[in-house]
Amino acid sequence: MLSIEEALQTLLSAAQPVTNPEWLPLALAQGRILATPLISRVSVPPLDNSAMDGYAVRCAEWAEDRLYPISQRIPAGHIGAELAPASVARIFTGAPVPLGADAIVMQEDCVAAGEQIRIVRRPRLGEHIRRAGEDFTEGQTLLSAGTRLGPAQLGLAAAAGAAILQVTRPLKVAVFFTGDELKAPGEALGPGQIYNSNRATLTALLHQIGCHVIDLGDVPDTLTATVSALEQAAACADIIVTSGGVSVGEEDHVKTALTQLGRLDMWKVAMKPGKPLAFGRIGATDFLGLPGNPVSAFVVFCLFARPFLQARMGMTPKALTAFTLTSGFAKPTPGNRREFMRARIENGQVILYPNQSSGALSSLAWAEGLVDIPADTPIKHGDLVQYIPFASLLS
Ligand code: AMP
Ligand code: MG
Repeated sequence: MLSIEEALQTLLSAAQPVTNPEWLPLALAQGRILATPLISRVSVPPLDNSAMDGYAVRCAEWAEDRLYPISQRIPAGHIGAELAPASVARIFTGAPVPLGADAIVMQEDCVAAGEQIRIVRRPRLGEHIRRAGEDFTEGQTLLSAGTRLGPAQLGLAAAAGAAILQVTRPLKVAVFFTGDELKAPGEALGPGQIYNSNRATLTALLHQIGCHVIDLGDVPDTLTATVSALEQAAACADIIVTSGGVSVGEEDHVKTALTQLGRLDMWKVAMKPGKPLAFGRIGATDFLGLPGNPVSAFVVFCLFARPFLQARMGMTPKALTAFTLTSGFAKPTPGNRREFMRARIENGQVILYPNQSSGALSSLAWAEGLVDIPADTPIKHGDLVQYIPFASLLS
């Protein structure tokens, strides 16, 4: 059996990033991966400016009972004149500091006396002034290629003067779901049938990481149907992701079909849930076969498919973030494989969903993360455990 790290390493080293990037306006670039670094066209702030509503002053002129005339008013977006000696300038947040001023006094530290003001506290040199270029400077590389664009990165690009960004094209992922027992929700169930839940889960997971999903639907458990679905998928997609049919039962045809059309590696990964992982290729199209059990499919997707797809999209995949927390549960009997249990945090402790079956979707919907339990390790109440929030698995 392979360790998770070994399997992931092999997957990532086979991931060829997509070529032919495209230019998009910021409003359409959310979730996309930057193809070329973002280099700023401007310095931000462009000029020294006020961090407060208040008065621009010369520190050396300060005395406790001195009265200052207000020689000018400088709102944001306007350049003031040089500060007249023995005066202050009324100034607003974001407005450029006038020549000659060396501090901003916040208005709360001033008292009005008719047309003049008194400053009740000695100003410090440079106080409440945001310096030109202190955020970033013209020509600075702000984001490297491979960065995923979220709200903050798009805001940064706008602040740097970029109206369009060069991003990698979305991956085309063909999906299908094997199993004679599968029915679409909304249809009536016959005896022995179940609703296809992997379709909903995997489609949502793929959309979340920015893939373009080509849904080829349910595929019966026959070799002919499986071969035909794989051929269609390979003709239209960068990657094929399937669920089910990759175990060793005689109803599992994915393995045979793939070996006929291309090549396939079947890996046994030392983890629970989700031991089998199928990785292969038909022509230029990669293939990832997830287990059929809904929880296994989800966990295997998060641990393997997600980083693989991200690497294919040109993104630098991030390592999983785990937090060390106190266990609010006991698991006296250790397993012989590394185990990912559905968990959440309550009162600062990690607690488990009672049903940890790899078929129990209720556990996933309840959970907010996974607790990562090493093989051969019994857990007592109060032990330290590694908790991986879904937020880090799904970003
Ligand atoms: P398999 O990997 O095909 O042997 O399936 C393992 C288990 O997962 C079986 O109980 C299947 O009924 C179930 N399963 C397979 N595919 C799906 C699906 N798309 N949605 C819900 N359950 C599934
Ligand atoms: Mg099956």
